[in-house]
Amino acid sequence: MFKEEILERFLRYAVVDTQSIEALADKKHPSFEGEWDLLRLLEKELSELGLTDVNLDEHGYLLARLPATAEGLPTIAFSSHVDTADDVEGNHVKPVVNDYKGGDIVLKNGMVIEAAKNSELPKYAGSKIITSEGDTLLGCDDKGGIAEIMTAVSYLVKHPEIKHGEVEILFSPDEETGFGMDFFDAKRLRSKAFYTVDGGERYYVELECFNAATVKVHFSGVSFHLGAARGRMVNALTMAAAYINALPQAESPEATDGRYGYYCAQQASGNATDMDLTIYLRDFDYDNLLRKIDVLKSLGTAIEGLYIGGKVKVDAKISYLNMGEVAKKSPKAVDAIFQAGKVLGQPLKTEIIRGGTDGSRIAEMLGIPCPNLYTGGHNYHSRFEWAALDAMNDATSLIIEIIKQWAV
Ligand SMILES: [Zn+2]
Repeated sequence: MFKEEILERFLRYAVVDTQSIEALADKKHPSFEGEWDLLRLLEKELSELGLTDVNLDEHGYLLARLPATAEGLPTIAFSSHVDTADDVEGNHVKPVVNDYKGGDIVLKNGMVIEAAKNSELPKYAGSKIITSEGDTLLGCDDKGGIAEIMTAVSYLVKHPEIKHGEVEILFSPDEETGFGMDFFDAKRLRSKAFYTVDGGERYYVELECFNAATVKVHFSGVSFHLGAARGRMVNALTMAAAYINALPQAESPEATDGRYGYYCAQQASGNATDMDLTIYLRDFDYDNLLRKIDVLKSLGTAIEGLYIGGKVKVDAKISYLNMGEVAKKSPKAVDAIFQAGKVLGQPLKTEIIRGGTDGSRIAEMLGIPCPNLYTGGHNYHSRFEWAALDAMNDATSLIIEIIKQWAV
């Protein structure tokens, strides 16, 4: 029903170069000038659709509002990111629309998307599959989400008889660099729920992600002439090494999966006098995350006890929260998804993310639920990326139905 418009929009957005640059992301936001091109294009399109409060701020956050058609209903938001990943070439994308008959897809450069390795692919025989020519990624992550949100909004604009509350649309830059929401003034949002459209396979919705903390540990040693150091010198490097060795190996990223959290020594720098160590903590359970922070503080005290004269300072900062915990407090956001799935006959399934999303940052900043919806794309961040137009159509229907569910 929406396929023609989704395709037309996606093809228009996919060719805009928006690959974010991780190395620049802490200095410049958006990190790549090209991201502005797509943001300005979307700003124009949202204005032309008649949305209100269309505002692109100095950091590249584009917010717009679709006015309510009925009074007294809560505002909800949908969001996608304009940048593409830099794992492979993410600019100069030339999308190819394949009339897929089944079997493997041979890309223009000879690379093959094998049906045997893509179990979802054969389900789309007889419909359209979008790929790149094989030299770049496709960018359905997350221009698929943008095309779906824009198509949903354009449908609602054309159908003012559909009862709904105000809908906020946020398009943001630099998600792939990890700095996606760092410069966003969350107070600009009025929404009671914030849906990111940044997932993958059809029917999968992501309701939970890690709780995350970044812990900075500073070791101060005592320097002394090495020839006369006995009983006087305290080596900060030795202290840091002992500290890292005490972290439980069974709770490291390389030894955990599923719902198990971890400690990860992520970065170290310094010398025998001063050492700085960064540790990432991740856990689906918030109390467990706090327990891990306590463990690291106690460990600091223990190391001080072992290396007399040395000092250990432990600073923990919560980076983002499991959006599932926030969602438990206001269940409407998740209920609306599953109710919408039921209405549309979509067999929705849930998944947990061993990471964070832009939504989990919003969950942390505003305390509102932030589920992640599917886009219909596969093999993200690779040249084998493909998107099924049928799935993108379903994603658009789901967005519209969720908006309707908030008016029930
Ligand atoms: Zn994404």
